[in-house]
Amino acid sequence: MSKRKLSKRQKDRIHAIQEKRRYRAMQQNTADQNEIHSSTLGPELRGTVITNFGTQVDIETTNSQNNVVRCHIRANVDPLVTGDKVIWRSADPFGVVVASEKRRSELLRPDIYGNLRPVAANIDIIAIVFSAQPAAFSNLIDRYLVAAEAQRIKSILIVNKIDMLTDAEYPEIHRLIADYQFIGYDIFQVCAKTGQGIDQLQSYLADKTAVFVGQSGVGKSSLINYLQPEAKMAVGALSVGKAKGTHTTTISKLFHLTGGGKLIDSPGIREFGLTHLSQSQVIEGFVDFRPFLGHCKFRDCSHNKELGCALLQAVSDNKVLAFRLTNYRQILQSIEEKL
Ligand code: GDP
Ligand code: ZN
Repeated sequence: MSKRKLSKRQKDRIHAIQEKRRYRAMQQNTADQNEIHSSTLGPELRGTVITNFGTQVDIETTNSQNNVVRCHIRANVDPLVTGDKVIWRSADPFGVVVASEKRRSELLRPDIYGNLRPVAANIDIIAIVFSAQPAAFSNLIDRYLVAAEAQRIKSILIVNKIDMLTDAEYPEIHRLIADYQFIGYDIFQVCAKTGQGIDQLQSYLADKTAVFVGQSGVGKSSLINYLQPEAKMAVGALSVGKAKGTHTTTISKLFHLTGGGKLIDSPGIREFGLTHLSQSQVIEGFVDFRPFLGHCKFRDCSHNKELGCALLQAVSDNKVLAFRLTNYRQILQSIEEKL
């Protein structure tokens, strides 16, 4: 009997010892794993996401734009987009992104559920491209300007296809150029066909990260090809792709421009829109209205017909162009209709 009791005690002791050993071994194993893991990872380095594939990204190292490393993303890192600055460590065969840096700016776009999602980070300039053909409309330009202002990203305007402009033809383009210069926007007049005016645009973009937006057919791909021959954007690719029913890639990419500067491009970026803006974001997107905001007689002035409206007064004093107030109302209405 006693023997059996003893053996049970023994068994318990053995069991306890084994448990301890197993635990220690487990600890040791984890420690070894950590050691192996960190010893195969390189030092922490800075880099920029130049292509985002979802679970993997291509990182350009900060020292050399020719050094591109495919990286996995550590689980605790927030979702990345092209243009993000990251901390990464090299490993074989893929590197690992271990942290991301705070974004200087974000380009947001609604996803299929209508939620705004960042599609690119650290953009300095939204270049709005327009042309005589397809015809340019101030309300479309203003939509882009308002969206850019709401994201606190500076805009410039690019008039492409100036080879099509003669004194007699397309007077509306000359009018638009004069009007937006009056408002205070930088306007570059270029021709992607001959290269006319591209030098100035190139030197302006030399120290910036830009995106090009604008309706299909205005010559964005042609311009990008001129500024960065390596990008090899198929001219008219979007419409051809659609006609053939082929899949058009939505992956955004960061390119280096030949004259310096960077450009982030994808079909999704080119179509960024206005949804989710509040009335105050829309009105503040009209930079020429700002000196007059808050000066109307009525606090809830709709700047429509009211007496003592500072904006209507500014229009009659030629300080604000009438078409801008019209576009403001149109944009506001289109947003309200969607709600
Ligand atoms: P995207 O849709 O904005 O990317 O426009 P594309 O670059 O595909 O160009 C649309 C069309 O405009 C093509 O047929 C181009 O050859 C033409 N195009 C582009 N730039 C110029 C230009 O400076 N002058 C003229 N006349 N045509 C141009
Ligand atoms: Zn008013």
